[in-house]
Amino acid sequence: MNENHAATDCAQAIEWLHSYIDGELDESDLDTMRIHLDQCPPCGDAHEFERSLHVVISTKCAETIPPDLRDKLIALVVGESGKSTGSPADP
Ligand SMILES: [Zn+2]
Repeated sequence: MNENHAATDCAQAIEWLHSYIDGELDESDLDTMRIHLDQCPPCGDAHEFERSLHVVISTKCAETIPPDLRDKLIALVVGESGKSTGSPADP
């Protein structure tokens, strides 16, 4: 993968949008995203929309779900994806 990112920029930007909002992209990808969102109004709008949605969701979740339960859910999800060893329903 070298200099051919221009053609897939929008697809890439949409793909990276959530990681970008969550701050999970690495430095070079972050730069690519910033530049693209700056220069591409449709993707910039999508980013604005997703970001505000993200804020609303996290705010609402913080309001409705007790932090205790939220931690348990996060631990569950993280633990679940962390150890995918194979047979899901083993008695
Ligand atoms: Zn774009």
